[in-house]
Amino acid sequence: MSWTVIGRGPAGLLAASLLNMHGEECRLVAAHEGTMALWSGVMDRGDPELLPLNAEEWQTLWTLLSRLWGSMGIETRLGPALTLSCTGSLKATFLCPTWQYCTPDPGPLWIVAFEGLPDSLQDIHLSAIEAATGHSPFWQRLPRPPGWDDSWTAVRWASFIDQTEGKFWLKTLLQDLNPRVPAGWPLLLPQVIGRIRTGEILREIGRDLRRPVFEYPLVMPSLGGMRIRDLWQAWLRNRGVPLISGSVTEYLKHRIHLDDGRSWGADHVLMATGGILGGGIKVLPNGVVEEAITHRALGQITAETGWGPVFRWGSEANGSLSACGRQRSGWDPDRDRNGGAMILATVYQALREQGLNILTVPRKGGLMSHAGF
Ligand SMILES: Cc1cc2nc3c(=O)[nH]c(=O)nc-3n(C[C@H](O)[C@H](O)[C@H](O)COP(=O)(O)OP(=O)(O)OC[C@H]3O[C@@H](n4cnc5c(N)ncnc54)[C@H](O)[C@@H]3O)c2cc1C
Repeated sequence: MSWTVIGRGPAGLLAASLLNMHGEECRLVAAHEGTMALWSGVMDRGDPELLPLNAEEWQTLWTLLSRLWGSMGIETRLGPALTLSCTGSLKATFLCPTWQYCTPDPGPLWIVAFEGLPDSLQDIHLSAIEAATGHSPFWQRLPRPPGWDDSWTAVRWASFIDQTEGKFWLKTLLQDLNPRVPAGWPLLLPQVIGRIRTGEILREIGRDLRRPVFEYPLVMPSLGGMRIRDLWQAWLRNRGVPLISGSVTEYLKHRIHLDDGRSWGADHVLMATGGILGGGIKVLPNGVVEEAITHRALGQITAETGWGPVFRWGSEANGSLSACGRQRSGWDPDRDRNGGAMILATVYQALREQGLNILTVPRKGGLMSHAGF
């Protein structure tokens, strides 16, 4: 059986990974990068009751994703827990990379910002933390490093701190401040602590200062999401999944067609075509299709229906095409929240619709024993 996943956001990356682990032949095709770069890298927990999964299925899915990320080098903590969002609030998560501040029980904190790095922290984060913990965080802004100019983006900051010079700049300033902060208070740094060496640098600073050290997310684009996206795509390439750039226009007679004339056969298609970037659509339960952001009506699903930026499929696709991720019928993460949780659930459901139960032991090429699930 051959599969094509359309979309390179979290839903498409997850679906392609699970197919690969289950020994299925799969191609991933996408017009653009997905929305992971908007994220801090935390999977929103959401309301488990929004989809008909039982507690055991949820737990299994979260554990599955944690192990999958672990095999890519992304260490995680499993929740439930609270974490800081890039918009400043404390939000619920079930899976959080270890670089990010995330705890079931928020307490007093030492927060550092960098002069010359735009962030959303000062007012909103500080008051959210104060309200949740009852403590005012110890707050400090570090001066601009030598060589800084106003063209420095978050990515430029991260590559500076990846280098010896940048790490030295940061460590020296933090060591000066450290005696002024009560012992045991975790240190939170902006999410630019390296593009590549994040874990190593945070551990090293933590050892020096003798306290836990984490990142807090900035406004997008988010380094946390970029790190995960890049590691995830590299993992897929290493396991032989073709990542194809191109815009899909049709799925007809079990063939995928791109706008540049390329085409290939696909027994199953998963649409993970999202809604933030890439002209996503939302299919309502009554079959009406609308543009996901503006809610402009684009048409009604019938056999041979086609509409603008997405693509069309014929009636023979019934039963071999499913939607997952933000695209999934009736779900809007901006309204319903639950981003990460719903991605897990909708990918699980879409694969099941196509005859693959990912909660069973992978046939070959899998990396998990599923023992204890
Ligand atoms: C600012 C912001 C921050 C967020 N932070 C979080 C967070 O921290 N945690 C969380 O859990 N959720 C978060 N969310 C919610 C989250 O963004 C969505 O749940 C999620 O991005 C949807 O992912 P997706 O894979 O469904 O689609 P997307 O990431 O939108 O991917 C869609 C993909 O489909 C491709 N595509 C579309 N049409 C075609 C076509 N015709 N041919 C080929 N390719 C096509 C696109 O190019 C793209 O690759 C956030 C949302 C926003 C806006």
